[in-house]
Formats: sequence, C-alpha cells, structure tokens
Amino acid sequence: MNDATASSPDPFDADVIVVGLGAWGAQALWRLAERGRRVIGIERFGIGHGMGSTHGATRLFRIACMEHPGLAPIATRARDLWYDLGERTGQTLLRQTGGIMIGPRDGHVVAGTLRAVEEAGVEATVLEHDELVARFPQYAGFGADDIGVWDPAAGISYPEKGVRAAVDLARSLGAEVLTDTRVTAIDPISGGVEVTAGGRVLRAARVVVALGAWTPQFVDHPLVARRTPLFWFEGDEAEATAPGGDFDLAAFPVFIRQLPDGTTLWGHGADRTDGDGYAVKIGLEDSNGAFEDTEADTVDRYIHPSSDYGMLSAAVARAFPGLDPTPAKAIPCMVTNSPDRQFVIGHPAGDPRIVVAGGDSGHGFKHAPAIGELLAQLATDEQPFTDIEFMNPDRDYDGTSWLDETEHVAVAS
Ligand SMILES: Cc1cc2nc3c(=O)[nH]c(=O)nc-3n(C[C@H](O)[C@H](O)[C@H](O)COP(=O)(O)OP(=O)(O)OC[C@H]3O[C@@H](n4cnc5c(N)ncnc54)[C@H](O)[C@@H]3O)c2cc1C
Repeated sequence: MNDATASSPDPFDADVIVVGLGAWGAQALWRLAERGRRVIGIERFGIGHGMGSTHGATRLFRIACMEHPGLAPIATRARDLWYDLGERTGQTLLRQTGGIMIGPRDGHVVAGTLRAVEEAGVEATVLEHDELVARFPQYAGFGADDIGVWDPAAGISYPEKGVRAAVDLARSLGAEVLTDTRVTAIDPISGGVEVTAGGRVLRAARVVVALGAWTPQFVDHPLVARRTPLFWFEGDEAEATAPGGDFDLAAFPVFIRQLPDGTTLWGHGADRTDGDGYAVKIGLEDSNGAFEDTEADTVDRYIHPSSDYGMLSAAVARAFPGLDPTPAKAIPCMVTNSPDRQFVIGHPAGDPRIVVAGGDSGHGFKHAPAIGELLAQLATDEQPFTDIEFMNPDRDYDGTSWLDETEHVAVAS
C-alpha cells in the first residue's frame, strides 16, 4: 500500500484507468468518456491489433444466446450501442441478417437456444425439418430429427472496426490513450490504484482490467487461455461465394449447427460486396476437443494443417459439399475460458477499486459495448442496467453451470 499521495488535493491522474483496449476495454473507455469521466486507456499493442482475441474481420451476433438467458438483455443493449457507435463514427458495426441454429430437437444447440429464448422472452421461430431442408439447400447430411431455430436478430459484428470506433470516439470525448505501452503492475493504494506502464506510474480512483487472454497475469482467478484459430473457405466454384451465390451471406447467414455425429460447427457466408470482403467463415465448437490451453505470451502463432483443421475440413466436407474443405485462410486467435464458461465481470474479492472483465469463453464480442457499459457502471458506482450476478468474479464454481444443464460446452461464436 502507498499512501504517499493521499493528502495532495488531486492525487489521481484520472478517475478510471482502463488496462487493455481490446473488445471489452475499448468499449469501457468509450462508455466512461461518454459520462465525462477523466479516463486513460492503456494498450500493449496498437488499436485493433491481431495478437489477442479480437481480430479476423467478423464475429457472430445473436440475441437468443444459448450460453445463458441473462445474456439476452446484454445482447439487446449491445445491439443499440453498436448502432449508436456506428452512426457516430460513420460506419456499419452490426449487420442483422438473421441466423439459424440447427440440430436435433434435444441437442444442445437447439434445446439450449429454445431454453434461452423461453427464459429470456426473446423472439425466435422454429423451422420444422422439411422447411429447414427446403430453405437451406447448401446444407447436406441433415439428421432425420434436425430442426432449426431462426434468431431474427442475429447477424455479423466487426471486431477490428468495433475496437477502433470505440477508441476513436472515446478520444474525441476526451479520453487519453496510450498505445504500445505494456502495463507491468496494478497495485491497490489508499482510495485508488497505481498502474505502472511504460516507465510511468499512473494513479486513479478505479481501474478496469480488461486483459483478455493476459488476465491471469494480473488477476487471481481460474481463467485459462485457449488457442482457437479462425478459418475461411471458398466455394468449389467461384460463383458460390459471389453475390447471389449459395454461400453468399444473404443465402448462407449466421449459423450454429450440431451435426448428426455431434460435431458442432458455427459460421456465416461470404461477403464480397465491399472493401471489407471475406470468404465463408466456419469454425468448430470448442467441445469437439480440437483446441489446447495456452499462455498468451507464448501461444503458437503457426497454423498446422493436420492438428488445426483436419477435423474441421472433414466436417465441412460432410456438411457443406459445395465448399472446398481445405481452408483458404487461417489465423491463430485465443479465447479465455472460465470454469463455467460464463464471463467474469465485477469487483474481484469485492474490492470497489478494481473492476475485472475477463473469461470471454468464446462468445464475448457481440456483447462488447454493453459489457463496456456495465464496466463503466461498476467503475462509477452506478446500478448495472441488468442482473450480472451470474458473471460475479467471486461466484462459486461447484462444477456445474447453466451450460451443463443444456449439455453445452463453450461455443466460439
Ligand atoms: C475463434 C474465435 C471465434 C469467436 N467467435 C465469436 C463470435 O462469433 N461471436 C462473439 O460474440 N464472440 C466470439 N469470439 C469471442 C470474442 O472474440 C471475445 O469474446 C472477445 O474478442 C474478447 O475480448 P477481450 O477484450 O476479452 O480480449 P482482447 O480483445 O484480446 O483484449 C485484451 C487486450 O489487453 C491487451 N493487453 C494484454 N496485456 C497487456 C498489458 N500488460 N498491458 C496493456 N495491455 C495489455 C491486449 O493487447 C488486448 O488488446 C470468438 C473468439 C475466437 C477466438
């Protein structure tokens, strides 16, 4: 503890320091700046970089979140804030195309989504088997019991653009931003915190710790980083992914699909209509055992064909025969799992000076501006806009979770 500055009239450089300007920290910076708070954001790399968890052009957006019914209000708030941020920075940050969750009626994807829909009271439509097969001709290998749940609010959000937009807007509202600056220590002091970064010591009343896969370096919590690469695919024929093609985003919207053998895929179609064009994106759900725990600083940044996409290519060949099953592009990425695969948001050990935001568990980007809002509320002693007890850092991990009840294990989607 260091009380040396406590008696000076203004011992603090800021009201709040946000450490880590990735998906969640960038949005917290914006929401704090929006409140007129003196806020400093510190990022180890550049803004919108590709070293953590928030890169690769797109992320699935859903409101009917199978991961927990408490996420629906957060996704709903995020939707509004994505539009607000997009309008104020002159770009598209959310594109709601609708999305389809597919699998056997009692499988974790369909049953989990339906349970979340029911408990959260959000809109969704069941597509019975014949309607599903007729509507999605690109899909092969449907099981006899497969049905679909259409989430009309689902769509695409944009990681690098979303981070840059939030930081740009925060700056224009007065936030100070330090890039290429590594935080090396976060220490509680009397009435606040001291953050050591790039040879400087900064003090603030509160700190938001939003360090993604690096969180375990600073917060004592059972979070584990997991190497989880991203993959893109092209059609067998070039027209397949062109506008109007079977695998264009309009015909092949956001999906999560549990195959009859239990393998679960997620992804969305290609978009070649503007400068941000991308191919078809498809990934394997973490529960398929394709990924390994890692340390953020030493994560393997190479792609290994057999171990990284052997299982995925085989599943793509079975599920979508119009695609070339060898990825056209692949990049490494990381998720950070909490033991129950729910986010970790709140004051660790009840310390009001520290707000932690970690454990994204592979489904956190869509919610980012609403998480940023919650972090700003926690850092300014406002009432959170929704119940966040299920994300409490001090919750008891008794080996069960809402996800287990739906036989579901973390979706990177
Ligand atoms: C393959 C894959 C697919 C996914 N699909 C989806 C999806 O479809 N939909 C969805 O909603 N979510 C998805 N996610 C999850 C989503 O991407 C993450 O939830 C989100 O990006 C996590 O953001 P974050 O802020 O926790 O971490 P990050 O964005 O990594 O931010 C942490 C920041 O802390 C910085 N930092 C680290 N150490 C220091 C230090 N010492 N000093 C200063 N700064 C530091 C890092 O540089 C980084 O910028 C996916 C994730 C993966 C990997």
